[in-house]
Amino acid sequence: MAATNLKALLKRHFGYDEFRPGQETIINTALDGRNSLVVMPTGGGKSLCYQLPALATGGLTLVISPLIALMKDQVDGLRSNGIAAEFLNSTLDNRTAAEVERSAQAGVVRLLYAAPERVSMPGFRRFLGTLDLRMIAIDEAHCISEWGHDFRPDYRQLAELRELFPQTPIMALTATATERVRRDIVAQLGLDGCAEFVSGFDRSNLTYNVKPGAGSWETLLALLDERKGQSAIVYCFSRKDTEELAARLTSDGHPAVAYHAGLAADTRRRTQERFIDGEVPIVAATIAFGMGIDKPDIRLVVHHALPKSIEGYYQETGRAGRDGLPSECVLFFNEGDRAKQEYFIRGMTGEARAVADRQLQQMVDYCRLNTCRRGYLLGYFGDAMAGGSCGNCDVCLAERQSVDVTVVAQKLLSAVMRTGERFGVAHVSDVLLGRNIKRIRELEHDKLSVFGIVDDYDRDGLRLIADGLVERGLIGRADGQYPTLGVTTDGREWLRKRGSLTLDLRVDEPPP
Ligand code: ADP
Ligand code: ZN
Repeated sequence: MAATNLKALLKRHFGYDEFRPGQETIINTALDGRNSLVVMPTGGGKSLCYQLPALATGGLTLVISPLIALMKDQVDGLRSNGIAAEFLNSTLDNRTAAEVERSAQAGVVRLLYAAPERVSMPGFRRFLGTLDLRMIAIDEAHCISEWGHDFRPDYRQLAELRELFPQTPIMALTATATERVRRDIVAQLGLDGCAEFVSGFDRSNLTYNVKPGAGSWETLLALLDERKGQSAIVYCFSRKDTEELAARLTSDGHPAVAYHAGLAADTRRRTQERFIDGEVPIVAATIAFGMGIDKPDIRLVVHHALPKSIEGYYQETGRAGRDGLPSECVLFFNEGDRAKQEYFIRGMTGEARAVADRQLQQMVDYCRLNTCRRGYLLGYFGDAMAGGSCGNCDVCLAERQSVDVTVVAQKLLSAVMRTGERFGVAHVSDVLLGRNIKRIRELEHDKLSVFGIVDDYDRDGLRLIADGLVERGLIGRADGQYPTLGVTTDGREWLRKRGSLTLDLRVDEPPP
């Protein structure tokens, strides 16, 4: 359908002037008769994606929704917009249900909402067969997957809709972004080859920052000073950490309370209320804090410890700036945090361990990025970001300078080789910087010719150079139990040919 007609319908029935990103393409795909999977966060505007095509195609669109309690509200909302909508569920008496069925058969209903358990009823299936059914929308489609957070066995029967009405396009909708659930939805509903849309995960008012762990206390205080009196959550690694951090912050002039699942229920409730009312600005919390907390004006979310997964991280940072005003997400990262988590992961087994390992690795990758952090986060959720940089994360905002790093790069590569390509960047840097530490003496790395030959870069600087060399393919990184560096064939070739190298280095704070 022509874009102008769709916009006219949008204006006429919903009162909006513009589609949100993604909506128009999704609608057109439905109008082309194709199956689709639509992933958008809650509040992203999924309903419109099937409501508008329902108006445009005429006929009837069946909407499967698991929330009986909400069906009536949805239908009332549509009717008040002048859209013929009805629902069928167990709250209706037989007579009313029969009336709804008759008007659907008469072709005067555009959207018919029904609960999933209806689909297993033979009477309902026969009834569907008498309709001018143009599309089937399956809301909360993740309910079909055991991997989701809300599995409902009734949803499994929806696969039969596909067999009963093979020509009728299906649109499955969900806010659950994990790849596994998405694949499961497609497989269960038999939607292979369907169009997939993931959009609306961007939170453009949030700034993403990663700070190297060293000196984090001063950095944290500075952050909180900047936002004195505003609401902030500081996520900590353990229950004990939350209490220590809250006490320390309070004594340093930033009133804070601790929150974790080990506290008595009424303490937790009171803490939540005091935070929501703005009585206490800062909560030092474990990830137990936040579920169901709808506070629009949280201006800062700090991760004082490495999150376990990108998903968790995105959800936790997503609590900042619900009101759409600029807010900041800051993550403190140091390799020690990684080791702490690995310690726990080593206690796990099988699939769970593999998943935890991968998630941790993705988290570490995120921290080490030299490219746009938002781009990485959105990419993780399958939401493509136009252009390579958001202009609102520390990587994009960093001031850069082209620096000839030829000499230090040669030193770094030599040190990696001389130490046997068995060590991470921290150890290699310590050798180059000539640090007098036990491990170096034990390994006799203080006897190497590369010991102490760098004095124009510090540890953070060397880490940056190493990242640059990894990016250029001169160094390879093996992330085993302890991450180690090795020199690639290209790296050796570069050394042999006495190549030169310039990198665009950040001149503000370096990433970890
Ligand atoms: P979801 O089902 O994805 O959680 P909804 O479909 O309930 O989200 O939409 C969330 C809100 O966004 C609703 O108030 C809806 O009216 C509004 N909305 C949807 N599309 C648009 C649009 N194109 N322009 C403005 N508001 C919109
Ligand atoms: Zn960016």
